[in-house]
Order: sequence, then structure tokens, then C-alpha cells
Amino acid sequence: MNKEIPYKCSCGGDLKRSRVEVEFFGINFGLKDAEVCTLCGSEYLDQDTMKEIETEVKKRNIFGLERKVSVTKINWKSRS
Ligand SMILES: [Zn+2]
Repeated sequence: MNKEIPYKCSCGGDLKRSRVEVEFFGINFGLKDAEVCTLCGSEYLDQDTMKEIETEVKKRNIFGLERKVSVTKINWKSRS
């Protein structure tokens, strides 16, 4: 499967479909489909991947917050 990519990188280089290892905010998302510029090496993730990353980052942030809150509660309880 070799789909042509109808647009080019902002530097004018051609984009090539590839799989890149994606990591954001210390969270590893593994190998994802991306378009990589053959000239400057810029990586472009597709919208689905960006959405997935956004959702995951939000989820982790909420979990982190909840953990902090519950720890505070425990500290508060043990004090009284
Ligand atoms: Zn480029």
C-alpha cells in the first residue's frame, strides 16, 4: 500500500509515510503512522493520532490530579 501524499512539507520537501515512535509529556504512545519529510525530517502525525494523544494526556492528567487529592485527604485524616 503506497498512497501518494497530496501535500508537501512547509520546507518544500516531499513527505513519506512512515512509522515513528511518539512520545509526549513523558508518555510513550509507541509506533504511530506519520508523514516524515524527506528533506528536513519534520514529522506530521495524522488527526486520529493527535486526538488519541490528546485524550490520553488529559486522562493521565486527571488521574494524576485525583491521586494528589486522595493523598491530601489521607494526610488530613491522619492529622485529625
Ligand atoms: Zn520539510
